[in-house]
Amino acid sequence: MYDAIIIGAGPSGLTSALYLGRANKKVLVLESKSYGGQIINASTIENYPGIPSISGFDFATNLYEQVKRLGVEIKYETVLRVEPTKKVITKEREYQAKVVIIASGATNRKLGLEKEEEWIGKGISYCATCDGHFYKGKVVAVVGGGNTALEDAIYLSNLASKVYLIHRREEFRGEEKYLEEIKKKENIELVLKATVDSLHGETSLQSITIDQEGKKRNLFLDGLFIAIGQEPQNQIFQNVVELDEKGYIKTQEEILTKTRGIYAIGDARVKNLRQLTTATSDGSIAAVMALKEMD
Ligand code: NAP
Repeated sequence: MYDAIIIGAGPSGLTSALYLGRANKKVLVLESKSYGGQIINASTIENYPGIPSISGFDFATNLYEQVKRLGVEIKYETVLRVEPTKKVITKEREYQAKVVIIASGATNRKLGLEKEEEWIGKGISYCATCDGHFYKGKVVAVVGGGNTALEDAIYLSNLASKVYLIHRREEFRGEEKYLEEIKKKENIELVLKATVDSLHGETSLQSITIDQEGKKRNLFLDGLFIAIGQEPQNQIFQNVVELDEKGYIKTQEEILTKTRGIYAIGDARVKNLRQLTTATSDGSIAAVMALKEMD
């Protein structure tokens, strides 16, 4: 019997683990991939209070080690289901806890094109900082108009010979400061009001067809970096929480779900701002509420 089971080892889940570990509780964190969540892929974090600049990898690793030092158990298992009784069923076994904190985050949104998933690692990537070094001196494209796409385009422009930045609108969602930097880069070409129609190649990506205001155009590429946002993966929790139309968990008082003793935190829940600061905030609120529930 654990005091708390936390599903997800991203910043929100690990912050809950930090607070609960410091309160001497028996805590299990279950993670299906690797610790750190999406922040591990951020090249630089410059908006976390008190830390002027740190890489996403260093931030996530520091937090992970801080939590491990407290004796929190972290297991790499995929959760299949959570029962209202706070039983958590993974692919491997079953665990029982007094409270469950869902911190399952969100995953990269896909374009939904044929071969997109098959060619991940063969020309398709969702992480410029992870895979950019494979494209030194090569031609790549980034799809998207948010901060991730803008940052990725800048990062890749320092490695690749040419970067197309493909966005479906003329206005960008990302910040002006990144746009200004992009405009100064000679090897970034903006391809606006354009969508990716199809991917081509034999066994890996060689070119794409884009649709730009009704006109088709072929771009020969070595790599396509898809940065079109994230989406949650909360279907497995539907028996214990309520989801909104986009699949995020509906909560009250920030983190309470419809089932007592089951909390939802971080990017997985309905919220206005999905940032590192709000993820760690959720994590601490859930831990303190959970501590009261356990008493
Ligand atoms: P985002 O802000 O949600 O932007 C996603 C972009 O992809 C939008 O421009 C959107 O176009 C486009 N898009 C969505 N679906 C598409 C589709 N099917 N086909 C083509 N384009 C599509 O996602 P994000 O850039 O990953 O950022 C997520 C959050 O993290 C944001 O709050 C962001 O500010 C934050 N972030 C912050 C930093 C930083 O502060 N340094 C760095 C990275 C991310 P439309 O604009 O037309 O909707």
